[in-house]
Amino acid sequence: MPTSDGNLMRSSRKVGVEVGGREIVIAAEKIVYLDNNATTRLDPAVLEEMWPFLAGYYGNPAAGYGFGRQVREAIEQARERVAALLGCLASEIVFTSGGTESDNLALSSALGLDAARRHLVTTAVEHSAIRRQPEHLAENGGGVSAVGVNGDGELDLDELENAIRPETALVSVMWANNETGVLFPVEKIAALAREKRVLFHTDAVQAVGKVPVRLGELPVNYASISAHKFHGPKGVGALYVSRRSAFRASSFGGGQENKRRAGTENVASIVGFGKAAEIAARTLEDEGRRVRALRDRFEEKLLAAVPDCFVNGAGAPRLPNTSSLSFPGLEAEGALALLDRHDLCASAGSACHTGSLQASHVLRAMHLSEERLRGSLRFSLSRLTTEAEVDRALELIPRVIAKVRALAAG
Ligand code: PLP
Repeated sequence: MPTSDGNLMRSSRKVGVEVGGREIVIAAEKIVYLDNNATTRLDPAVLEEMWPFLAGYYGNPAAGYGFGRQVREAIEQARERVAALLGCLASEIVFTSGGTESDNLALSSALGLDAARRHLVTTAVEHSAIRRQPEHLAENGGGVSAVGVNGDGELDLDELENAIRPETALVSVMWANNETGVLFPVEKIAALAREKRVLFHTDAVQAVGKVPVRLGELPVNYASISAHKFHGPKGVGALYVSRRSAFRASSFGGGQENKRRAGTENVASIVGFGKAAEIAARTLEDEGRRVRALRDRFEEKLLAAVPDCFVNGAGAPRLPNTSSLSFPGLEAEGALALLDRHDLCASAGSACHTGSLQASHVLRAMHLSEERLRGSLRFSLSRLTTEAEVDRALELIPRVIAKVRALAAG
């Protein structure tokens, strides 16, 4: 078994890393992990860079002595790396606890800047980190317009334009949908918002690390990012705040993050986030191509092997890693349980819907029939997904679908 620090170990039972003499199991080797839009495996190289900041360099980054300064420098290096991945300035990055906090911060900042502007324009297919905010806003009389999508999950840009009113504070549209992978024309929407003199936020959580994102070249005011969607640690992310944009903080205290987000930094996670960003920037092009080919092969073979099977969002531009499929006559929950018994991890919608029988709001907004809604599964790949995993999935899924359909029909 190879055991050098940070190296990937493979035994007959597990995949893990050994760091500082400790063995850390990442996953059982037999797992076929096709739920990368929910979260991704921590890259061993990321863990390796985090380790010293958990174990050795514990100085407070705000401290004036060298032991604290070293930690501050590591945070600033991470900021540079995240900014390089996003094509923006390091000073435009505010570290947060992840995508949810970034989404909340962007909305509360934009809606708190001008009391006369409390209206929000968003879409019917956003993640709950954005969707729940409108519920809160409605209580406060701000008002929300949620623009719908067509059968392929695409936005109607005329409807979006017409939804913008003089009292609109913010347009918030995700870069890529977490359930279908459908990509929205962020460049056009940002330009439209700029033309109407309204702030623009994009939830780029699912796009970053999968497709090129160059924020500095776009009229985007705020963007949300999360490390655990591209092989970084959980519980850390960033809000991009363009240098031209006003920002209203929600937490106050020690003045960290340039007074935009108070609290002692989550140093090891920020360092890991930086490393994940550095790897993503370096591998994005080649891995994007490889993952797309793998996903396309997966879809082609499944469509050929399984009768009555549809790709949700097939007519729209999509992320290279995501495959949302509908199998009419299937109970998705039953299929997931059976796939789980064979150690295949997938999802029936976004992670927060799993376990509840609520149909996905995204697929519902796409006007899918009840049968297609009930029988939808999401498979999502990553740059750590192997050919062998996809082969195993292709062997398993048609059998499971046939079995669950036969049970339902019987
Ligand atoms: N936005 C989108 C589109 C997501 O897919 C997710 C996570 O699934 C989030 C926001 C929330 O990110 P986090 O898990 O980092 O809070």
